[in-house]
Parts: sequence; C-alpha cells; structure tokens
Amino acid sequence: MVLAYVVTADVSASLVTLATAWRTPAETFVWPLFLLLAGGAVLHLEAAQGIERIREISREGSPHAHMQSVWLFAGVLVLPMPLLVALIAISYLHAWLRVYKRRAVLFRKVFSAATVVLACAAAQLVLGFFPNRPLDVDGPLGLLALASAGLVYWLVNYALVVGAIVMTNRDQPARAALGNASDQLIILASIGLGSVLATMMSTRPWLTPMLLLTVLALHMGLLLPQFRVAARTDSKTGLVDATFWHDVAGREIERARRLLSTVGILILDLDHFKLINDTYGHLAGDRVLRAVADALKHSVRSYDLVGRFGGEEFAVLLPGVSTEEVRATAERVRFAIAGLHIAVIDRLGHDQVITGLTASVGAAVFPDTATELSPLLLAADEALYQAKNNGRDRVAVS
Ligand code: GH3
Ligand code: MG
Ligand code: MG
Repeated sequence: MVLAYVVTADVSASLVTLATAWRTPAETFVWPLFLLLAGGAVLHLEAAQGIERIREISREGSPHAHMQSVWLFAGVLVLPMPLLVALIAISYLHAWLRVYKRRAVLFRKVFSAATVVLACAAAQLVLGFFPNRPLDVDGPLGLLALASAGLVYWLVNYALVVGAIVMTNRDQPARAALGNASDQLIILASIGLGSVLATMMSTRPWLTPMLLLTVLALHMGLLLPQFRVAARTDSKTGLVDATFWHDVAGREIERARRLLSTVGILILDLDHFKLINDTYGHLAGDRVLRAVADALKHSVRSYDLVGRFGGEEFAVLLPGVSTEEVRATAERVRFAIAGLHIAVIDRLGHDQVITGLTASVGAAVFPDTATELSPLLLAADEALYQAKNNGRDRVAVS
C-alpha cells in the first residue's frame, strides 16, 4: 500500500520528466540561471549542513521544512522542466551525500525528490494557464499567476508528504503527520523568497548575491536558535541535554530495528573530576567540561550525537556501528581526552594548564546487548562501573 503510493509518485515524476524532456527549448540564456541556482542550493546546504542534520534527526515522522524551496521555486519560474528536474536531482543528491551521509533510506529521499518534481510540474502547469509569465509583465495578473503557482507548489508537495507519513506511521495520530505550522510558514517564506530571487535573476542578476546572503543569514539566524530551543542545548558545554539525547536515541533504535541496523552507545565519566574542582576551582572545572565536550564531538563522526548526561558524565550515540567499531570509537575518545591541554585560571587567578585528564567509558550495542533503550543504557552504565572498578582510564564493553 505504502509501497504502491511511493512507487506511483516516483513513476509519475519520471513520466513528467520524460514528457517534458522533448520540448526542451534549452535556450542558452537559461544555463547561467541554472548554474546560479544549483550553486546557490549547494552553497546554502553546505553552510547549513549541521543545523539541517539535527533538525532532520529530531523531526522523524513529521514533514520537514526545507529552505531549499528558495532555489527550487525560483527554478520553477525561470527554468524549463528538464533543467528544473536536474536542479532538484543535484539538490537532493547533495543533501543525501552531505546531510544524511548516505545513511538515510535512499528510497525515502527519492520519494521526497519525486514529490518536489511533481509539485514543480504542477506549478509550471498553473503558470501555463496565464497568457504571460509572471516575470515578463507587471500587473495584477502577474501577481495572481505567481501566487497561484506558489500555492500549488506548496500544496502538492505538502499533500504528498503528509499522505506518505500517514501511511507509514499508522499508529501515530494523524495530526502529528501535519507537522507544525511554523515549518509550513518557513516553506511559504522560502517560496516568497524564491519568487523574489527569480525576479532579480531575470532583471538584476548582479544583485542576486545579496539574496544568497539573505537566505543564509535567515537560515542561521532564525533556524539555529529555533533548533537550540528544540534541542535544549546545555549552555555549559554546547552539547544536547539528556532529554533530547534520549529522544533521539529512542528514535535511532526504532530506525535500526526497522532497517536491521545497529546502534552503539557510550557512557563516559571523567576520572577523579572532583579533584580538578578541589585543586583549581569550579570555574576551571567548567572550562575542562567544555574542552572535553569539544574533544568528544571532534573524535566521532558528525552524524553521531554527543550529549551531556549531567555533571561530568557524557553519552555518545553511534548509529550503524559494529561492536568492534564501538570499542574503537571508545578508545579514540579516551585518547582524545588524555591528550588534552586545557588552559585555565585557578582560584588565585594564576594561569594553569591541566593535562593528564582521564575518563572511563562503558559501551553497549543494540541489538547485541539489549533491544530497548533502557536496558541498553543500564548495560552501558554497568560497563562504566566495571571500568571504574578495574582501575579507571579504560573502556569496558558489555
Ligand atoms: P570518579 O568518577 O573517578 O569515581 O571520581 P569523580 O571525582 O569524577 O566522582 P564523580 O563522578 O562522582 O564526581 C562528579 C564531580 O563532578 C562532583 C562535582 O563536584 C563535579 N561536577 C558535577 N557537575 C559539575 C559542573 O557542572 N561543573 C563543575 N566544575 N563540576 C561539576
Ligand atoms: Mg567522575
Ligand atoms: Mg560522575
């Protein structure tokens, strides 16, 4: 049922592509526009990669607002369909490689791309009903054409995605599939910006970098704080807090169950941390926590999620790794911490460098160790306890 739905969407998108391919006017002047839009889309995603990945993880099971619509909807207005399809393909392929690190289910991304192709085709169809393309003439009819094309683009995309979500997550209430209004407003805003971008490209191409900057600044300025709130970032270390980490870990385990994949979990506790506080003071201790958090983030893949569990305890989520890789990662993390040189100011105001920091790590792997999050965490915690008992500064895998 779901499969039929998804395949229908994919096939329709391919058919639309083929049907429009033969009437490619592909005048030479559209190539620079195409390159500009493709470049913009790629640059945009590169800059916003980190935010997008986390937003994606935290949003599984509801529609996800892509500001990429800025580029795609501008494409609707200035590109012939075949180039538009190429633009969509580039944008999604790039996202798959860079944001999802090839870990996302490919057919889902193909489906998302297909919904966008259909939405673009529908929007261009609407534009075809009007005597003039909105960018060629000014006037109320131009506004009407633009507004209806934008509305159709949004509606087709949204309806197809919500349909797929309702079908795949039957146990979740249908309202959840609708996502939240602010995400839809972001898409509508992207469509609006896309119209402005298209207009500017056709009339004042040299001004388009201004818009590129606007889009990037909006993305970082509005979505990053929004994400920070959603992710309940711990201000002391910049890591996500335990609640958020739990949410994501639960979702990753469900995903791994579906895909017959694995999830590794590390719990890490600094050794004799009280001594640092006692020797150098609490502020220095905080500085150390920040340095450890950074070291942790840098010694795992960008897809892995590092959280602060409280105090000087951290947790790392490692989707899709084998038991051996979990052990190797744990050792890498331990070495990274042991190699830290942290400049601090002690209680007396003297500069000091803290070295020789060590940590104990407990590890567990889904589904080898346990098949639910709670027993998995208990097992990792138990392993951590073993590591502490056996002399600290070591890794124990349960
Ligand atoms: P071990 O884990 O090796 O058994 O010894 P430990 O000294 O690290 O013991 P434990 O993990 O139980 O101690 C945690 C200490 O971490 C106690 C507390 O003073 C300190 N701590 C917890 N949260 C913070 C924080 O936010 N900032 C600072 N500076 N210290 C903290
Ligand atoms: Mg400790
Ligand atoms: Mg502790």
